[in-house]
Amino acid sequence: MNTQANKGKAVVTGASSGIGAIYADRLARRGYDLVLVARDEAKLQEVANTISNATGRKVETIKADLTSTADLRALERTLATDSAITMLVNNAGLGAGPGLLNATPEYLDELIAINVTALTRLTRAIVPAFISRSAGTIINISSIAAIAPEVLNGTYGGTKAYVLAFTQSLHHEFADKGIQVQAVLPGATRTQFWDRAGVPVQHLPQEWVMTAEDMVDAALVGLDQKELITIPALPTLENWNQFEAAREAMRGGLSAVKPAVRYHVAS
Ligand code: NAP
Repeated sequence: MNTQANKGKAVVTGASSGIGAIYADRLARRGYDLVLVARDEAKLQEVANTISNATGRKVETIKADLTSTADLRALERTLATDSAITMLVNNAGLGAGPGLLNATPEYLDELIAINVTALTRLTRAIVPAFISRSAGTIINISSIAAIAPEVLNGTYGGTKAYVLAFTQSLHHEFADKGIQVQAVLPGATRTQFWDRAGVPVQHLPQEWVMTAEDMVDAALVGLDQKELITIPALPTLENWNQFEAAREAMRGGLSAVKPAVRYHVAS
């Protein structure tokens, strides 16, 4: 039942199934009321009823196709004007689909529209409200494909690398304004994501596949620990820290008046 103090409303995109539905459940148990967003109204309502019965929290649903400009605009308005919203979970996404040569232009558009454009625009819509309140949390669901683009199709990896870089830049710009951001990089997770892409999850090596429940629970502990980047499966955090340290170490040399000596450019 409703055991936690009210923490405001969390908006979760892609909450009709998989990772988003588990985020919704866990956030309600942590004291959030919810706004659940996806296209499938019946499934959204089912998730909403289950959660409100179990937790006593208020759960609203918004049927929206995030590739539709009109739906996106309406959701942007909600984010900008509903002062009870304290968290945005940009989770909706697809794609373990075909490689570049087998992908239709329409599929590539859809992939980028959901994974990149919608995530960016929804973030843009909520940030001014969070700044004005000096508080708010944005969780962006990326993927290990962000740092291992070889594992699935390249466009998907590219969109998820965008989510990672965008989240790092959000932290850089807004952490001192009271906004907490987190990019979550799940590995293979047991959801419909794989079936939707025509790659049954049973065909993956099972030792790679995490349940959505474990993935989300770990990611929320990462959030509590104020991690900017959470990779639930990574056994050794030091690997990520070294990766970031190497990136930081390059920073001072990335821009210069002359090309590096190895390019032998005489001027
Ligand atoms: P999922 O069960 O297929 O969930 C995807 C969610 O996105 C659904 O709720 C779906 O709802 C929603 N969605 C898809 N297209 C949409 C659209 N045009 N407009 C609005 N909502 C839309 O897959 P999942 O694994 O939970 O995926 C969630 C996130 O995790 C994605 O960003 C995915 O890239 C990421 N991820 C997944 C894995 C994995 O192995 N499963 C690994 C790394 C990252 P409707 O169909 O009802 O609209």
